[in-house]
Amino acid sequence: MPEKPISAGKPPFYEATANECDLFQTAWDKRLPLLLKGPTGCGKTRFVAHMAARLGVPLYTVSCHDDLTASDLTGRYLLKGGETVWVDGPLTRAVRHGGICYLDEVVEARKDVTVVLHPLTDDRRLLPLERTGELLEAPDNFMLVVSYNPGYQNLLKQLKPSTRQRFLAVEFAFPEPAREAEVIVRETGIDPDGAMLLVRIATNIRRLKGIDLEEVVSTRLLVYCATLLMAGVDFDDALNAAVIEPLSDDADVKAGLREAVAILR
Ligand code: ADP
Repeated sequence: MPEKPISAGKPPFYEATANECDLFQTAWDKRLPLLLKGPTGCGKTRFVAHMAARLGVPLYTVSCHDDLTASDLTGRYLLKGGETVWVDGPLTRAVRHGGICYLDEVVEARKDVTVVLHPLTDDRRLLPLERTGELLEAPDNFMLVVSYNPGYQNLLKQLKPSTRQRFLAVEFAFPEPAREAEVIVRETGIDPDGAMLLVRIATNIRRLKGIDLEEVVSTRLLVYCATLLMAGVDFDDALNAAVIEPLSDDADVKAGLREAVAILR
C-alpha cells in the first residue's frame, strides 16, 4: 500500500562524508534525478530524510521488493463504499503535489517499474497514468531519488545501463573512523571511547569482506550494538546479537568473526 509521506520538520541528524549534500542540492535545483549506490546501513535513507527536511518538502519512501509493481507506485482503482475510486500511489502523489520520492533498493522491483521511471527521468519529467488516462507533468518541487546496493552479487538484479544513465549517481561508503564514531555517539549517547572501539571492531571485520562474508558490518549494526550497551547489555552479548549473528549463519564464519573481535579486547 502507498506509504504516508514524512512531513518536513527539523532535519534528522546526518553526518556528511563528502560533498553529497551540495550535490543533492544542485540536483534538486536543476531538477535532476539522483541514484545513491552503497552497502546497506551506510546512511543513504537518513541522507534523503535529512535533505527532504532541509528542503522543506514531503518525502515518500518506498522500500522496493520483488513483488513491487508499477501500480504500487502509480496507484490503482480500489473499492470504497461500493464505488470504485482511483487512489494515487506514492510516486503519483509526489508528482501531483510535489515532494521527493525515494525508491530504496530499486533493483528489487519488478521490471515494469522502469517503464514508469523512464519518462520521469528525462527532460520531459512526465508520469503517464494509463488507467486514468492522465499525463502528469512533474512540478519543479518534485525529485526522484533511488538507491541500490552494488555489493549484492546478483547479475539478474543489476540496473540496466539505459536506466542508470538517467541519474546522477553518488557512491556511499562507510564513514571514515572518526566520523563513524561520531554518528554512533550522536545516535546512542555512548561515550566516544566506546564508539571508537566499535568502529575498530568493524574495521577488522570489514577486512574479511569477500573472504567469508557477503556483507560486512554496517554503521546501522554498530548503532544497534551501542544501543544495547547503553541499555546495560553485557559487551559480548551485545556484539553477538548486533554484529556477529546478523552477519552470518555459518558456525565457522561466526567463530572467525569472534576471533577478529577478540584481538581488540
Ligand atoms: P541505508 O539506507 O544506507 O541502508 P540508513 O540510512 O537506514 O542506511 O542508516 C542506518 C542507520 O545508521 C541510521 O538510522 C543511523 O542511525 C545510522 N547512520 C548511518 N550513517 C549515518 C550518517 N552518515 N549520519 C547519521 N546517521 C547515520
